[in-house]
Order: sequence, then structure tokens, then C-alpha cells
Amino acid sequence: MKKHNYSAGPCILPQEVLQEASQAILDFNNSRLSILEISHRSNDFVAVMEEARNLVLKLLGLENQGYKALFLQGGASSQFLMTAYNLLEKKAAYLNTGTWSSKAIKEAKFFGEVEEVASSADKNFNYIPKNYQVATDADYFHCTSNNTIFGTQMKEFPAVDIPLVCDMSSDIFSRQIDFSKFDLIYAGAQKNMGPAGTTLVVLKEDILGKVSRQIPSMMNYKIHIDKESMFNTPSVYAVYITLLTLRWLDKKGGIAGIEKTNEEKGKLIYDEIDRNSLFKGFAEKEDRSLMNATFNLTDESRKDQFDKLWKTAGIDGLSGHRSVGGYRASMYNALPPESVKVLVEVMQEFERTA
Ligand SMILES: *Cc1c(COP(=O)(O)O)cnc(C)c1O
Repeated sequence: MKKHNYSAGPCILPQEVLQEASQAILDFNNSRLSILEISHRSNDFVAVMEEARNLVLKLLGLENQGYKALFLQGGASSQFLMTAYNLLEKKAAYLNTGTWSSKAIKEAKFFGEVEEVASSADKNFNYIPKNYQVATDADYFHCTSNNTIFGTQMKEFPAVDIPLVCDMSSDIFSRQIDFSKFDLIYAGAQKNMGPAGTTLVVLKEDILGKVSRQIPSMMNYKIHIDKESMFNTPSVYAVYITLLTLRWLDKKGGIAGIEKTNEEKGKLIYDEIDRNSLFKGFAEKEDRSLMNATFNLTDESRKDQFDKLWKTAGIDGLSGHRSVGGYRASMYNALPPESVKVLVEVMQEFERTA
């Protein structure tokens, strides 16, 4: 049996996706060629790219509203600078909710002034700041919907009159949001959408062309839009596995369908963290993430005992990020509720053997 995979990213993918993907390495679409051996301009691969782009917009409810979906490379980390390269003329507003936001801010500063509208650094990012003001003269507002490392998630997004840009790397396609509020969304595929190697960007074309600087081709959204994500060779296999994962999600009832399962999983784990006195949650309750549940032991001296229990139960990837310590249960779309039940049973067994 496979392990219960709580890895934070790259992370669990649906088993049926892995099976289909492995088949395509040997023989893609009965072509008697591997997907890895064909031109990215072949009809078979162009069809993959087109279907993936269309399915992204369909699942997000963004069809026919002026949005484009791009599959780029360089990870979400390249989007930290690419967003600023394309959109920042004078000043941009950023909400700082953790490591990834801080990195986005650092890169944006290469291109102009950055106003940090609020930060939760004062409490090691265990909450989402609220009631902040976003400058109306900023070129855009940037936020991070889910803080993968600290286990916090934005439940609401500010209503702003300037373009709204969001790093949704670790919770895209996990919950229903009015995605049409956003002008640019980006996400590295390897958390909730596919394997490492491709990065999704969904953007409204009309926010482009407003900065005065020259933009090199690979950094230029307009060029990638015009070339339909094929300006250079795309990461074909990562895009293909992403397409398979999106098809899997579509069959599950899309975001509305998976959201129910994600809420169920979140309730299982957080109820146990709150009930069991041997554990304490890291994030403020109202800001808890349904994707990454962070928690610590109340008695650190029992770490070895707990670690042995979950490893014996076939659980993998539960150790927390070094900046929080403790544990992080990453419960992305593909993680079945059964795996969360196994973890909860382990936590209860730990209590019984106290
Ligand atoms: C993982 C992660 C990133 C970094 O993604 P890369 O693809 O490795 O560059 C950025 N933002 C968030 C929210 C993440 O979880």
C-alpha cells in the first residue's frame, strides 16, 4: 500500500493520474511514441496545451471574461519578479503574510517602491492581518492566499480598485472563491495542481502595457499570451500531468466538489488538535488553512515517541518547516480523507499511551 503522503510540495497526486502519466511515457495516445519524444508543436501536444488552458478557465469560472491562462516555467518564484516587471511603474502594495510574501516583496523592490500595507511578522506569521488600508494610487495589490509554511489562509480578500494580484500556489482549485475579483493569479503547479516544472498564470490582458520599461521576451506576459505558452519549449510533461490532474478534478465535480472533501478533512484534523491536550495548533483559529495544518506538541520531550508512531502507521512528510517546527499536515486535493483518519487515530493512540 502507498504511504499517507503529507508532503508540502511537491506532493501527492491522484493515483489514477500517475498511472495514466506513466503510460504516456511509453506510448502517448497510441502514437507509438513517448510524450517525451514528440515535438511540442505536434498536433497531439498542442491539443494538450489547449485543453489544459481551457480547463483552467472553466474550473475557475473565468471563461469568456478576458482572462488568459499561461503555463510558464521558473516556478512561482519567477512570478515574484515577473509580476513586478510587467505591472510596477512607481509603487505597489503588498500584504506580508509569510516567507513567500516576503520573497515576493524583495523581488518587487528591484522594480519600484513597495508599500507593505500590513504584516504578521510580529507573531511569526501565525495570523492574517485585517483592517488594513491599501493605497489607491498603487499600481496593484499583491497577496498570498495560503501560507504554505505557517498554515494560514486568507478567508476574505480586500475590495480594491487597483489590480488584484495573488499568489495562489498552495490552494488554487481547493475552494470556491470569486476568481473574477482577481486580475492576475499565479501558482506553481507542484502543490495542488500537478508536478513541479510548470507555473500557471491566469491574467486579464487589459492590465498589461501600462509600464514604461522595456520587458525582455521571456519576462513579458504579452509575448507568452501571443505565443500561447509556446514562445519557447514548454515543460511538456509537467503540463500534461497538470492536464490529467485537472481532468480528475473536473470529474470530482470541480472546485465545488473538492471543497466539500477539503472541509471534511480540515474538520477532522483541527477537531483533534483542539480536543487532544498533547497538541496545540500554530495558526490563529479563524485564519487556519485547510491545505496546511500546522501544530506542535505541548511536551516537546515526547517528539521521538510521536514520530515513531506516525512513521509506523505509514505516514510520510509530516515534519514541520524549520521556521515553525512541530508538524505540518499538508492536505492537498489529492490526499484522501482516509489518510487524515489514519493521522487522527495516531494522535489518539499517542494520547492513550501517555
Ligand atoms: C511553494 C510556494 C512558492 C514557491 O514556488 P516555486 O515554484 O518553488 O518557486 C511560492 N508561493 C507559495 C505560496 C508557495 O507555497
